[in-house]
Amino acid sequence: MTEIDKAYKILKENGVVGIPTETVYGLAASIQSQAGINRIFELKERPFFDPLIVHVNSITQAKEYVSNWSPLCELLANHFWPGPLTLILTKKNSISDKITSGLKTVAIRMPSNKKTLELITRLGHPLAAPSANKFTKTSPTKLIDVTSVFPDLFVIDGGKCTVGIESTILEILHNQIKIYRPGMISKQEINTLLSQNNIPATISYHESPIAPGSLKHHYMPKTPIITTLGPLHEQDTSSLPKHLLQKTASWKLPINAAIAAREIYGHFRKLDQQETTSMIIEITPKQRIDDHFKGILNRLFKASSYFLPEDLVEES
Ligand code: AMP
Ligand code: MG
Repeated sequence: MTEIDKAYKILKENGVVGIPTETVYGLAASIQSQAGINRIFELKERPFFDPLIVHVNSITQAKEYVSNWSPLCELLANHFWPGPLTLILTKKNSISDKITSGLKTVAIRMPSNKKTLELITRLGHPLAAPSANKFTKTSPTKLIDVTSVFPDLFVIDGGKCTVGIESTILEILHNQIKIYRPGMISKQEINTLLSQNNIPATISYHESPIAPGSLKHHYMPKTPIITTLGPLHEQDTSSLPKHLLQKTASWKLPINAAIAAREIYGHFRKLDQQETTSMIIEITPKQRIDDHFKGILNRLFKASSYFLPEDLVEES
């Protein structure tokens, strides 16, 4: 029996499997299985108000489940799929309210991992899958990250995730594109595509209309993270609880955004296994304003307990 055979069998029996994607590993059930969908929420300890992402194997399949596919969707999907871009669209009845937490819209994307695409094709319909971690905890980017939290779960091995942070989530409202969650497909990249195709759409960052994903604290390891702008020795640390700096581990966010994204969750995990009082993660002034780092800093800031300087993250 291959991994795909085994996963297929579990899904057919209303179960849940771990799937690799280029972003992070997912916890997947058939969109047709209410029991499977319920099990995802139960395993993740995820509140029912936090909707799941539907994973499809093609643009053709995506169109079967939504009612407002537009030429702009076609352009974005053609360019970025398979890839880390999730589109929010109006759902058809074949997508249950459980998946969308009662919303009329559904989040949909085509991942690029070959095994996961093969599984969706074999099943004949999409998979609903959030990230394979407990609610608000760090997302998994390797098989072992999933099995160490869910030892009884069958997980398809896709190696290390090549992107490393969750997808960019956006909604298209007429000629306005709203990014609800920044990711490695940046606003700049989408803008370039729009202008190359003479599309007069505007694109901007927005708070998600629903609370999840936009929770202030998320992706958090147990050991507190202190994010610093520049080296620690240049900071005024008087605002920090004293014990935090007793035994620190440090990591400089890599200058290359693709590498930084691929490594960030692995570093959160590594830190949690060390006996340190805090982890110092250093970013540069350039990274702070670089659009390519928007998704990475979004995750880092939500995972951080302290900031130096204290006003590094301005509340909007
Ligand atoms: P996860 O797969 O764990 O990253 O979680 C999926 C995230 O997608 C949720 O936390 C939401 O932020 C977002 N999402 C899913 N469905 C919708 C929707 N219909 N509208 C807006 N955001 C959504
Ligand atoms: Mg998640």
